[in-house]
Amino acid sequence: QDDIFKKIVSHCKEYGFVFPSSEIYDGLGAVYDYGQYGSELKNNIKRYWWEAMTLLNPNVVGIDSAIFMHPKIWKASGHVDAFNDPLIDNKDSKKRYRADVLIEDYLAKIEEKMDKEVQKAKKRFGDSFDEAMFRSTNPRVLKNKEKYEQVHARFAKALNDNNLEELRQIIIDCEIVCPISGTRNWTEVRQFNLMFATEMGSTSEGSMKVYLRPETAQGIFVNFLNVQKTGRMKVPFGIAQIGKAFRNEIVARQFIFRMREFEQMEMQFFVRPGEELSWFEKWKKTRISWHLALGFGKEKYRFHDHEKLAHYANAATDIEYDMPFGFKEVEGIHSRTDFDLKRHEEFSGKKMQYFDPELNKNYTPYVIETSIGLDRMFLSILSAAYTEEQTSNGETRVVLKFPAPLAPVKLAVMPLVKKDGLPEKAEEIIKDLRFDFSCQYDEKDSIGKRYRRQDAIGTPYCVTVDHQTLEDGTVTLRDRDTMEQKRIKISEIHDIVDAKVNM
Ligand code: ATP
Repeated sequence: QDDIFKKIVSHCKEYGFVFPSSEIYDGLGAVYDYGQYGSELKNNIKRYWWEAMTLLNPNVVGIDSAIFMHPKIWKASGHVDAFNDPLIDNKDSKKRYRADVLIEDYLAKIEEKMDKEVQKAKKRFGDSFDEAMFRSTNPRVLKNKEKYEQVHARFAKALNDNNLEELRQIIIDCEIVCPISGTRNWTEVRQFNLMFATEMGSTSEGSMKVYLRPETAQGIFVNFLNVQKTGRMKVPFGIAQIGKAFRNEIVARQFIFRMREFEQMEMQFFVRPGEELSWFEKWKKTRISWHLALGFGKEKYRFHDHEKLAHYANAATDIEYDMPFGFKEVEGIHSRTDFDLKRHEEFSGKKMQYFDPELNKNYTPYVIETSIGLDRMFLSILSAAYTEEQTSNGETRVVLKFPAPLAPVKLAVMPLVKKDGLPEKAEEIIKDLRFDFSCQYDEKDSIGKRYRRQDAIGTPYCVTVDHQTLEDGTVTLRDRDTMEQKRIKISEIHDIVDAKVNM
């Protein structure tokens, strides 16, 4: 699994999907640039989300608010005082950890120990192996299970009580059972604010400390009445937004999973007070269907309902995806009550209420939020798509099996040889199709190599122009996944490709 992850990271770099930022200056921690294919893939994911939100829901509209916002907003939202991560240092290794993430790693290690035991037994007993029975009776598995449950319960309680000393104790205890750092000499746990700050305005006029937004949601809340009034929106309605967010993450790792500059796709859905929990359930269903529609398989996703709720939430769940490094949060769905609007009312002194014509009264709407990280979605799609296959001639091919509508390039057109008028014919075909979907011309290297290159960037179809094309107007169409080739008329290319790649 670790190996596959490394391969995905280097594939991303080698094929123009993701580069480390400022690479010629040795990179910048946890910041990445998207290359020519990466940015196409990212745009396609954005479109898939945006259209699902705004076209499929007549009562959801989109906005694009500024990254800079009035600093009071972050006071009101609670980010200035409470957007903290618990930090701990190991005095011997001089390594810094996020205490909660470190404890999750210990838990994963204990789980791994149990699984190893099960795998070993599976190998020994083969088909007759009853896994459920083994898990519930084997003493080594049971011992680890008990350990896991103990640590898990202590962890949940410590988070709930915001007990930093207990977090430290859990780390010390876990380090004895399943070492990660190798030493036991820890500092106390400290809170660290994740917001980036900068100065706005010239010094002669004075300047103001402003923050780079750590989430896009607040831009929606402060525009709630602008959109409601100008769009004549009736509750229930939603506002969607895609944009950059910034967090000074302490433990930046796992490639684009945890970055310091990233993109979010968020939607705030405003509902009548008292109706929020049924809307919460509805959005859970809608959002998981959106993920499942990509076709990667149900077993790749799970909900993780929060036991510990933020003070403003009355229900919360994460949609987790089975990344090469385990199930991880890709999207959060939260029932945020009327917390945000009420706080903005308090801090701005402006009313944030809605007049409901059916009920004939004013109220502060409750909010269901769906918040998904675009970069994490990108990583989940790459992980699902990345496939290594043995071909019939014994070679390994790497193919990105993207859902066709998300593929950066939809069709490659290639002349079999670089002469006899074949390149001109291929160019002519592209000229006809390039405004319908993204096409690429390729004439360099053998046809086999060109197919491999297109497989590696996930192009669903390749068309090859040969001498027969000049005689009868037919080409070969090769399918990325089956590698099957069939002869079709040039005039048929458009409809075949279009049917597969257009959402
Ligand atoms: P985590 O617990 O992993 O730090 P979070 O619970 O703080 O995430 P939210 O504040 O709920 O995340 O943000 C919503 C979404 O934004 C997350 O589900 C995730 O997909 C994305 N996201 C959050 N932080 C990052 C980051 N540093 N890099 C990339 N994506 C992120």
